[in-house]
Amino acid sequence: MSTPFKCILMLLSLLFLGFYKPEKRTVYTGTVTIDPKYKDEIAYLNIEFRDHKKAVAGNMLQQDCSFRITTKANKELDIYYTGMGIGDTYLQTVKPTDKDSVFLSFKIPKEYQKKAGKAICPKCNKQDKTITIAYGFKSIVIYAENQPPYTTYEGYGKEEVYDGGCNSSEISAKFFCKRDAIKF
Ligand SMILES: [Zn+2]
Repeated sequence: MSTPFKCILMLLSLLFLGFYKPEKRTVYTGTVTIDPKYKDEIAYLNIEFRDHKKAVAGNMLQQDCSFRITTKANKELDIYYTGMGIGDTYLQTVKPTDKDSVFLSFKIPKEYQKKAGKAICPKCNKQDKTITIAYGFKSIVIYAENQPPYTTYEGYGKEEVYDGGCNSSEISAKFFCKRDAIKF
């Protein structure tokens, strides 16, 4: 290889290294405070980070109720928990960050804020589009047209409810927001 060519090559690699940044990742650590009554319900609970419903990272909740999840944090991400007999339940949204680590803490079962007798959605902070989720036999299907992102949509007496299916746990989501299409 000729010397000028080597020099150009070196210069190019220096330029490349100068601009190249490894993908930044953030470590989310946290704890979940669980009412001891529901200790059994949280076996195999999974904490998941989603970008517009698409899972991007997740991890099982440890025995000591802690979790550790590493992910790119360049976008707003929604955090959910899921488990055996527990549908996807929205916890909160985290803003993009360039921090190396972030600490989070959650409480299960969740505490619900209400306004005018209706649960406030933790994502849009409004209550106008939230409805109760009915589980098991108490839900009467009036029509069950599959309408993504909803599963089945139905009526319960005069109140509009979301059909949560038969599978239910004490820590399953209790409400559904029609605006965000999330269970919380
Ligand atoms: Zn909402």
